[in-house]
Amino acid sequence: MSAQVNGRFYAKTSLPTEHGPFDLRVWRAADGKEHLALSVGALDGAEGLPVRVHSECLTGEVLSSLKCDCKAQLNAALTFIQRNGLGLVIYLRQEGRGIGLGNKIRAYELQAQGADTVDANRMLGFDDDLRRYDVAGEILSALNVRSVVLLTNNPAKIEGLRAAGVVVEERQPHKVGLNEVNAAYLQTKRARMGHLFDTLDTLPTDEEGEVIDQGHLERP
Ligand SMILES: [Zn+2]
Repeated sequence: MSAQVNGRFYAKTSLPTEHGPFDLRVWRAADGKEHLALSVGALDGAEGLPVRVHSECLTGEVLSSLKCDCKAQLNAALTFIQRNGLGLVIYLRQEGRGIGLGNKIRAYELQAQGADTVDANRMLGFDDDLRRYDVAGEILSALNVRSVVLLTNNPAKIEGLRAAGVVVEERQPHKVGLNEVNAAYLQTKRARMGHLFDTLDTLPTDEEGEVIDQGHLERP
């Protein structure tokens, strides 16, 4: 792996959590943003390392918002690497698919008026997904991780990481966090952003097998 490295590890400790103890590293990127690497086991020279690249979601992870599946996804990844005894979660500080917290909340209000997550971002003048994965490439390179098995449902994330020089051996499906409120949001991610969710097949469907629109549930 040969990503150009512009940031550096700034701090490291062992952090006890509800899931178990993690090696926690803080990565200070060239732009001053601080990202996290939470790991279990020896990473140096690892091949096929289970890795979750996770983008910050304050509303989901701190406030337990039901509008998305971020908290369940993060917790599932942390639990998995503890059980597995080896793995890494890279936690990137890019809220709201990269548009920032305030703009994410603006988008939520547009969704409350009927727009879906993709249209809401476009109405605010943003592309569908502004997340960048070059920082994750830098962190993996600095940790001397040779190749990864990515825990994700998002093909664009695999492409983004490969573009950043990461060797992705395979994708491990990461299907958790479905609830009544976020069903329409997850359906939008599948239909309009290419996410892979077999579990949506268990949602209510009409005679043709189409998932019944549950957009009204997103309204407060
Ligand atoms: Zn979220």
